This record gives sequence, structure tokens and C-alpha cells, in this order.
Amino acid sequence: HAKKNGRNRYDWFEPKMEQDLRSRAELENGILAGIARGEFLPFYEQQVDIETGALTGFEMLARWQSPHLGLVSPDKFIPVAEELGVIADLSESVIGQALRDARDWDSRLTLAVNISPVQMRDPWFAQRLLKLMAEANFPPERLEIEITEMCLSENIGLVRSLVTSLKNQGVTVSLDDFGVGYATLAQLRALPFDRIKIDRAFVSRLARSEDTAAVIATIASIGEGMNLPVTAEGIETETLRDSLLRIGTFKGQGYFYGKPETAEQVRTRLKSEARLAIDARAALAGMD
Ligand code: C2E
Ligand code: MG
Ligand code: MG
Ligand code: MG
Repeated sequence: HAKKNGRNRYDWFEPKMEQDLRSRAELENGILAGIARGEFLPFYEQQVDIETGALTGFEMLARWQSPHLGLVSPDKFIPVAEELGVIADLSESVIGQALRDARDWDSRLTLAVNISPVQMRDPWFAQRLLKLMAEANFPPERLEIEITEMCLSENIGLVRSLVTSLKNQGVTVSLDDFGVGYATLAQLRALPFDRIKIDRAFVSRLARSEDTAAVIATIASIGEGMNLPVTAEGIETETLRDSLLRIGTFKGQGYFYGKPETAEQVRTRLKSEARLAIDARAALAGMD
């Protein structure tokens, strides 16, 4: 809202506001040009079995390599791309790159991608994603989509049919950022989810509060009851990992395991660590 300022009713030309409008316009133009120039890149964060430390896959997190702003985080450009109506173009460009990167990893490793609720308003979304996988020669069984409860307030009938088409082709579906919003037990059943991801706000609070341990334990037992495995995100320290291990069985990710890395860094990592990950998984398989 413009401020009322005596006889000058609206001071539209307050320098700060003018500056904000100009930088917003620059941001919008930069994003549009950046999509055309291929400046949006996939980074990858490790996902592991916290009990064995075995690598199970990576979550792709988009970054914008802007010639003017440097490396920009998705919290800055995703909302703007949604408002500009270009989120699908941006998303499909980074997912396409990610599918081609991940195709060359060990075939047991999964790729998780975040999908905006805006993309789930497109009746052709599932077809488009399947087409990207076909073009990249990437098996849908290795793809996991992460959606938030925001998708559940959209046209739930459409969202359910999109999710069902993808699941029929082998894609798995996670509920991201569980615990921060209003997601309830009923919402967990609104879609055939395969996994729950506990938001990192909870995990980081675990170090400071006993209540949080009880909340996470509750989520873990809901997950167990509904046959939904749980991933904990934002594991920054060994202490947090150990606290989680005492509560239950989780997949995990976070800076303790590794920060998001480029495709090239992942390639190098997999060359040196592949044996480790495979051995750990083989050992786990041998236990049951
Ligand atoms: P998210 O999917 O919940 O991803 C987790 C975020 O937490 C990532 O931030 C990740 O870098 C950060 N993170 C992970 N582990 C730790 C940790 O141990 N400590 C701390 N401090 N942070 C950690 P990022 O990459 O900035 O992404 C933010 C959000 O942007 C994501 O939240 C996701 O909702 C969205 N996003 C990212 N890429 C895409 C995309 O391609 N499409 C869409 N629609 N959304 C995306
Ligand atoms: Mg996510
Ligand atoms: Mg999350
Ligand atoms: Mg988030």
C-alpha cells in the first residue's frame, strides 16, 4: 500500500519504492532472459539411509546462474516465475538437464524433483513430464516428485488424476515440507503419497526441544501406520542424526551429509564413493 502523506496523498516517487519497482522489473526481465539463455541449473543434494549412511539418491534443487546477480536461490526466483506464468518452462528446462545427468548415475539411485502447485493446474502436466523422461531415456521408476500441501488446495480432482497417471508409470510421490503448514491426517490420505518429508524447521528444533522429538516420533508412527516411509531434511549435525536414529527409521538429507552440488561434483563423488554406497546397501540387504 502506498503511504498517505498529508496533501501529497500517495508518495509513489519515494526513492526506495522506485528502486524496489525497478529491481523487481529487472528481476523479472532477468528471469525471462535467463530461461531463454539456459541460466537455470540443477544442483543435487544427497539423500541417504541414516542408519547405514548409504546413498539412495539425490534431490534436485534449481539455481539461477545470473550474469548480474551471481548464484540465486530458488526462494527468490520460483515465486516470480510462478507469477510470470513461466514456471513450467523453467522447471522443464532444469528437470530435462537433471534427467540426463541422473541417467548416467548408478541405476539404483533415485532423482527427486520439486513441483510447483502452479504446474499441477495444467491438465497435460503428467504427459509433459513423461515425455521429458522418454526423451532423456530415464526410467520413471527412478523419479520421485515432491509436492507440498499447497497442491491439495488446488483442484484436487485434477491433481489426483495427474498423480495417478504418473504413479501408473512408476513415478513415486512425496509430500514435502510436512509439519509446517496445515497438512492433517485427512490430507495425507487425499492423495496416494509414497513418502512424507519432515520439514527442516522441525529437525533443527530437535536439538533444543524435547517436544519436537515427540512430534517427530508421532509423524514417524503415523508414517509407519500408513505405510509411508519418512525422510527428515535439514540434518546439519551428527547429534541431530543420532537423535533421529533414536526416534525411528528415516531417510535423511542435509548439510551433515552434503550441501547441494553441481552435476560435475556429483559425477566426481560417485566415481570415488560408488563402492561405498553399494557395499552399504548390499550389507543392508544381507541383513534381512
Ligand atoms: P525444499 O524442497 O524443502 O528443499 C530443501 C531446502 O533446504 C533447499 O533449499 C536445501 O538447500 C535446504 N537445505 C537442505 N539441507 C539443509 C541443511 O542441512 N541446512 C540448511 N540450512 N538448509 C538445508 P533451496 O535449494 O534454497 O530450495 C528452497 C526451496 O525451493 C525448496 O525447498 C523447494 O521448495 C524450492 N525449489 C527448489 N528447486 C525447485 C524447482 O526446481 N522447482 C520448484 N517448483 N521448486 C523448487
Ligand atoms: Mg523438496
Ligand atoms: Mg522440504
Ligand atoms: Mg521448503
